[in-house]
Amino acid sequence: MARKIQRKVEAAIIEKIGAVTAAELLDMPDDSWGMLRDRISDRRNGQDGLTARCMACNSPVYIQSAPARGVNRPLFQHYVGGDPTCPWYHGKNMKPDDARAAQYQGRQESPFHRNMCELIGELAALDPRYVSHSIAEYLPPTENTYGRYPDIHVIWKDFGIFVVEFQMSGSFQTEISSRCKHYEREGITLLWVLFGLETSVALKQNTIDIIRRHRGNAFVLDPPAVKASRENKTLMLSCYLRQEDGTLGRPELVRFDELNLPRSRLPYHMDMIVAPRLDAIAKRRRPWFAALESWQQDRYKPLQSLERKPSLLIAATFSLVATANGQPRNYASDHQNLSGMLNTYLSTGMLSRYTDILTRLIEAIGKGVQLTPKVTEHLQKYRDEDQANEESPEWALLRSLLPEIFDPLLREELTYLDALPDWAAGRVIAPQAI
Ligand SMILES: [Zn+2]
Repeated sequence: MARKIQRKVEAAIIEKIGAVTAAELLDMPDDSWGMLRDRISDRRNGQDGLTARCMACNSPVYIQSAPARGVNRPLFQHYVGGDPTCPWYHGKNMKPDDARAAQYQGRQESPFHRNMCELIGELAALDPRYVSHSIAEYLPPTENTYGRYPDIHVIWKDFGIFVVEFQMSGSFQTEISSRCKHYEREGITLLWVLFGLETSVALKQNTIDIIRRHRGNAFVLDPPAVKASRENKTLMLSCYLRQEDGTLGRPELVRFDELNLPRSRLPYHMDMIVAPRLDAIAKRRRPWFAALESWQQDRYKPLQSLERKPSLLIAATFSLVATANGQPRNYASDHQNLSGMLNTYLSTGMLSRYTDILTRLIEAIGKGVQLTPKVTEHLQKYRDEDQANEESPEWALLRSLLPEIFDPLLREELTYLDALPDWAAGRVIAPQAI
C-alpha cells in the first residue's frame, strides 16, 4: 500500500496581511490564527473576509486545525480541487520520490520562489551602493568549467558581488554543497536564506547543514526583516542563532553588510560553532599558563605533578605557542631566546624523546617564531630512537592542550571553517609589548 504523503503548504499570501509562513502561523496565539481561519472561511462562503493563496501555486488555501499531542495546531491546506502540480500539494498516492522530484522542480519555478527573489532584489536596490541584480540568470565561471544559475546575483559598488540562494525544503544536500563550494572557489559571497523555518520542531537535516555552514546562523527574510530593510535602505535579515542544545534562539535583525565574512564566503553574524570551541580550549589551557608562570621560580619541582622531562616539554611547547601568538615567553629556561633554550635541552637529552612533537609544532608555527638553523640541526642530531608517539601520555596531553596543532580532526575543521588561529596556521603575529 502506498504510504500517505502529506505535503505541507509552507506559506500563503493572505489578503491585506501578506506572506505568512507555516511557522509563523504556528507561532500565532490561538485567537489570532483562529480569527484568520474564520475570516478566510467567511470569504470562501461569499462573505466579507480574507482570501489566502498558496505561495507556490497561487490556488486558494484555508487554515486547517489539526490535533497534535492533544492541542489543535493550525496549518495551511489547499481546498479540494487545488492544483495537483503544486510542490506543496497534499496528495494521497504520490510516491515519496515523485513528491521530492515535484518539490525540487517547484523550487525553480514556483511563483513564490520568484517573488522571494524579486523581493531580495528590490531590497538590495534600496542600498546606495546598488549597481545591478539578476534573477536566475547564468553566471559564467571564472575558474571553473561550469557556471551557475544563482537565485539572485547582486553587485554593490565597493562591496562586490554577492549571491543569495533560497533553501526550500526540497534542496538536496549535494546541491547545497556544490553551490557552497562553487561560490567559495569563485570568491563570491553566498548567503543562504532559509524558508519555512519552524523553530518549534526538530529541524530537517538539510536546514541544519546550511545553518552550520553559516557558523550556527539561520537567516530568514521575514516581515520584520523586510520592514527593517526598507527603513534602513539596505538588505537586512532575521538571524536565529543556534544554541548549544541545537535549538534556535530568538531572531535578531542584522544588516547584511555588517556580517562577518570568512574565507568560505559564507557570512555569519555571531560565530556559534567555532568560538565556543576555541573558548573551551582556552579554558583548558589557562591553568597551565598560570602554573608555568609560578613554575619558572623553581623549575626543578614538578609542573602540575608531571615528571621532569614532560614538565620541560610543556614549558617548551607553551613558550613556542605564546611567542608565536605575539606574547614572547620562555617558561623553560633563563635563555634570552627560544633557540638557546631548545638547543640546551636537546643537547642535554632532556627533550630528545620529544623531537617529533617539537618538529610538528615548529613546522606548524612556521615563521611565527624565529629559530636559528642550529635548532633544526639539533632536532636531528639529538633525536632519540624512542620517540613519544601518538599513543604516549605526552602526546595525549598536548592533543588536549594544543589541539590546534596536535588534534588533526580539530585542525582540519578549523582550517575548513577558516578559523585556525594565526599562530597555529604559520601566520606571523607582531610581538606585543609585555
Ligand atoms: Zn499550492
